Amino acid sequence: MKVSAKNMGHVAIIGAGPAGMSCASSLATLDYDVTLYEQEQQAGGIARYYIPAFRLPEETLNDDITNLLSQGVKISHGKNLTYIGTITDLMKRGFDAVFISTGLSKPFRLELLEGYINVTDYLSFLRNIRHDFTAPELKKKNIAIIGGGSVALDAAVSASAAGASRVYLISLEHLKELPADQEEINLARLMNVIFKAGSQITRVVAEDKQITRLTGIETDWKEPDNYHPSNARQIQGTEFSINVDLVVQAIGTCPDDKITRFARGVEIMGKGTIVTGSDFSTNLPGVFAGGDVVSGGATIVQAVGDGKKAAESIHNYLNKRRANQ
Ligand SMILES: Cc1cc2nc3c(=O)[nH]c(=O)nc-3n(C[C@H](O)[C@H](O)[C@H](O)COP(=O)(O)OP(=O)(O)OC[C@H]3O[C@@H](n4cnc5c(N)ncnc54)[C@H](O)[C@@H]3O)c2cc1C
Repeated sequence: MKVSAKNMGHVAIIGAGPAGMSCASSLATLDYDVTLYEQEQQAGGIARYYIPAFRLPEETLNDDITNLLSQGVKISHGKNLTYIGTITDLMKRGFDAVFISTGLSKPFRLELLEGYINVTDYLSFLRNIRHDFTAPELKKKNIAIIGGGSVALDAAVSASAAGASRVYLISLEHLKELPADQEEINLARLMNVIFKAGSQITRVVAEDKQITRLTGIETDWKEPDNYHPSNARQIQGTEFSINVDLVVQAIGTCPDDKITRFARGVEIMGKGTIVTGSDFSTNLPGVFAGGDVVSGGATIVQAVGDGKKAAESIHNYLNKRRANQ
């Protein structure tokens, strides 16, 4: 494809996941000169590094990246926000607008599991398995996954496929309340995942900072339809205990704290997500954001849609600015 002169303006995009890539592609089509800054060695975001390969083949992403490059988009790899500086630095370097699409990368942790060697989070866990599907360290091991959403099920199915002996899925939500598709639950069942739904961990037994056993108890809800941990009530006499070799926490993620420094002045919510209007503009002129860093976690389709709509908004904003000059 012949790349036309990119003379409509310069836009910096931070984070080359689905939101950033789709925004870049739409802006390139409108003849903007676009630079994508990505901290990883390859673009693709969660889809590239974390979603199990059996659900999203790498070839699909590689095709998208080839398309972006053929549109003249520049991808600057391995750059973290420290190198990029702040939004002000980018504007001083001649960018007319910035789109932030850095997603969610800081997993939540349970205090009860702090400080133990054999506790990890679902992002690190899934990334390792995606890198080496055979994951020999999991063979014949007992793995407990804490959490009941799609990502917890991904971790459970992946552990089982890698040859773990027993995989437990421990969630406050009961089976019918799990925030996951029935298909995902069925697959986990097929892979012999043991559901400890409607229960919580109460105690750990450890030797040399290594958890050997988890003790839990069944729970129900004080108030109906409120699945917050503070609403859980323990059912006395239902204690259980399981032997474990590894514990994986899959209870959610929020944006990296670095965003606050990079995007100084941009309005940020309590859990670190960026506040935007429906046009994906932030409170700072020329600064836009979209994808998971705004929604707090959604889907690839939504992130792609955000990126496209944000590109239109950036174009409208710069058109107005040009008209007023
Ligand atoms: C395990 C898992 C499974 C999922 N499965 C599905 C599924 O089956 N279907 C579906 O639709 N959705 C799924 N999702 C959700 C989907 O992946 C996300 O909604 C989507 O990837 C969000 O896109 P994004 O571009 O906003 O963020 P991301 O995909 O997170 O991309 C953000 C990018 O920004 C980069 N970045 C972050 N910080 C910096 C920085 N400081 N400097 C430079 N770059 C930075 C990251 O490296 C990353 O490349 C899943 C999510 C997870 C975690």
